[in-house]
Amino acid sequence: MRALRLMEWKSEPKLVEVAEPKPGPGQVVVRIGGAGACHSDLHLMDEFEPGSMPWNPPFTLGHENAGWVHALGDGVVGLRVGEPVAVYGPWGCGTCARCRVGIDPYCENPAGAPVPSGGGGLGLDGGMAEYELVPDARHIVPLPDGLDPVHAAPLTDAGLTPYHAVRRSWPKLPPGSTAVVIGVGGLGHVGVQILKATTAARVIAVDTRAEALRLATECGADRAVASGPTAAEEIRDATGGRGADVVLDFVGADATLALGSAVARTVGDLTIVGIGGGTLPVSFFSVPYEVSIATTYWGSRPELLEVLDLGARGLIRPKSTTFALDDALDAYRQMREGTLEGRAVIVP
Ligand code: NAD
Ligand code: ZN
Ligand code: ZN
Repeated sequence: MRALRLMEWKSEPKLVEVAEPKPGPGQVVVRIGGAGACHSDLHLMDEFEPGSMPWNPPFTLGHENAGWVHALGDGVVGLRVGEPVAVYGPWGCGTCARCRVGIDPYCENPAGAPVPSGGGGLGLDGGMAEYELVPDARHIVPLPDGLDPVHAAPLTDAGLTPYHAVRRSWPKLPPGSTAVVIGVGGLGHVGVQILKATTAARVIAVDTRAEALRLATECGADRAVASGPTAAEEIRDATGGRGADVVLDFVGADATLALGSAVARTVGDLTIVGIGGGTLPVSFFSVPYEVSIATTYWGSRPELLEVLDLGARGLIRPKSTTFALDDALDAYRQMREGTLEGRAVIVP
């Protein structure tokens, strides 16, 4: 079969021929229906180097996957061949306290995981191929009626990651509150939809690109603000000077972190999701009182079920453009150039 593989750090991935995977005991092979292209893949290609992660290339890209059960290993029960499924992407050890409650991304025993702090497309072979080997059947989630693999794929990361970030801040988003979403790309545009579908907050979206701001409005944002020197003042004005109860930064650059801390309200949350490499100085007077600053990584397995439910009921719907496996590099090129709207989904 063909697979899009990162062969070494600081390189473009290559479309190469590899052997079709066979499931061992307890494992599942998924025929891929959709594999989302994440900006994290660009970080992998451009910035990471030996020592950045506990794993190294080569591996097949694609950590946002859905498809159909293709083959079951010995001992797998409760799944049938041909059934449409999503793949829960973070693969922890399965037995530590975090994994037991389904928060594999925060696995406390990475040495016991199939790959430390990773998964398919992140150290192990992912979904940008005709088939993906999933090393444990517990990572397979049957799709609810109303969702097909192409639409489900982005929900497993571009949906799940912002869902986790929004959900943890639900108590701070009652009627009358404001949430700011910085970066309305693959994750951010679904973040806006999740805020609208699950909270009563007013949503202000920020991006550098006019098309992204249009998409934010289409997704339900109450206000769209161009990123730049006047953004903080505009947001403060729009909130009667108080600032935002929750800021979700899907960029994570110096400028966006500075904007986030400039517009956060006392007792608010500033949540850093983007891996833009920026830093934010924190001291007694640098951020409003009782602002909590946190990074979040991906989401939990129970949260994935909730996101798929929102997707199946049409309450959230990632905007996606599909690409053939042959054109996957084009999808990444468009993402790099900022001409992609929403998410790119590779359909092998
Ligand atoms: P994307 O390229 O689809 O979207 C990024 C958006 O940010 C674009 O719309 C871009 O115009 C906008 N942007 C860039 N610079 C900006 C600025 N200074 N101000 C305002 N907007 C700006 O990327 P994506 O796939 O949505 O990923 C976003 C980030 O989240 C990446 O860094 C990615 O690696 C990271 N990520 C983190 C997690 C996690 O679990 N923490 C999961 C997935 C992705
Ligand atoms: Zn990702
Ligand atoms: Zn674990």
